[in-house]
Amino acid sequence: MSDRVCLVHYHEIGLKGKNRSTFENQLVQNLRKALRDYPVAEVKRIPGHLLVSAQDGQATPELAHAISLVPGVARVSQAYLCSLDEEEYCAAALKALHEAGDFTSFKVHAHRSSTDYERHSIDINRLVGDILCHEFPDKKVQMHKPDVIVYVNAVGHVVYVYAASEVGVGGLPVGTAGKVVTLLSSGFDSPVATWMVGRRGATCVPVHFSGRPMTADTSEYLCQDIINQLAPGGMIGRLYVVPFGEKQREISLAVPQSLRIITYRRVMFAVAERIAQLEGAKALVTGESLGQVASQTLDNIAAVNEIVSLPVLRPLIGSDKQEIIRRAEEIGTYDISAQDAADCCTLFMPRRPETHARIDKVHEAWDSFDHDAMIEELVQNIEYVDFDQCPSYKPPRQISRWHRELLPAFEHID
Ligand code: ATP
Ligand code: MG
Repeated sequence: MSDRVCLVHYHEIGLKGKNRSTFENQLVQNLRKALRDYPVAEVKRIPGHLLVSAQDGQATPELAHAISLVPGVARVSQAYLCSLDEEEYCAAALKALHEAGDFTSFKVHAHRSSTDYERHSIDINRLVGDILCHEFPDKKVQMHKPDVIVYVNAVGHVVYVYAASEVGVGGLPVGTAGKVVTLLSSGFDSPVATWMVGRRGATCVPVHFSGRPMTADTSEYLCQDIINQLAPGGMIGRLYVVPFGEKQREISLAVPQSLRIITYRRVMFAVAERIAQLEGAKALVTGESLGQVASQTLDNIAAVNEIVSLPVLRPLIGSDKQEIIRRAEEIGTYDISAQDAADCCTLFMPRRPETHARIDKVHEAWDSFDHDAMIEELVQNIEYVDFDQCPSYKPPRQISRWHRELLPAFEHID
């Protein structure tokens, strides 16, 4: 019996011209890491595709599924790996079509690349098509939108044959779009925002502001669970945690109630930007969606945004809550975010937050406490935990004295 391999398809990488090999190599590296718990023999580039082979020569649907979750993968096919012997690849085409389940119409699509095989694709189509028609006399051959397409790809000295593919997450390989710092709460939105920029190829460095010591550290654990849930995408290398409770209390005493949230956010953005500088990240990311809550009006977004000079990416700005929830379910973060945990946002919440902040009032509030000293002190007390999932993540070379290796509370995590 022919071996089965996973043929990995990408579209966007294919469009990248001279950068193509960089993108392909990054995807190979990311796949190797993502599949490290599977019995994989090899991940390699072949003309037009990547190829993943299993140690026992029988790539499974589970392996194909794991591949489909890696950004940059458009589709994965469990293909039969055949020689150029026509009997062998025709037999594989029969098996592939038998496995296709319920269908009424089909066609054969043959393709050749980098091969000196004497048969041209039209001949292959005819040869394989005749055999399939003979075996499936009650099925219709249909050129336009058939139910099943049997692909027969001759590449070099081998032929890949498949009829079914699993759709992948698409996007670009993580590590090809630079680094971002994402503001990660344990709510529904920011994990989805993080996943979205990760899917576009960014290496994500999340920062979480916890209410500790004024609240429990539950939200910190939930953030770790979220990151573990995002592990198949291989986008996260390190989580920074900023215990923010004390400083929030100071802010709540210093500034008018209605401007508390905006002031917390300005401090959070400023600290996140410091982390971005250290990490060499080129943008911040938030899970904001226009008008969703008081802090997400255009006025308030502007009042917070002006504190940083890095671009702030808001991948969910035009999304409805229902769309965000659906995506959270798909990427597996929904159940974690649905758990109740006090984070810094639930602490010292005003009864009536400002919805359209006047910038002069915001500046007045900002200048009513020593914000520079506060930001510096928060930066000095940042903690972090590393996750071994992102091949493109390089920790900052200059590890400053304020990094502690692990939160004491994190040491007990399995
Ligand atoms: P989320 O569902 O992501 O918590 P939200 O709907 O609760 O968002 P806000 O509380 O206004 O909305 O938060 C807006 C954005 O600010 C979040 O998406 C996130 O990027 C950032 N943010 C909020 N709280 C925190 C936090 N505790 N730590 C880090 N970032 C946060
Ligand atoms: Mg929230």
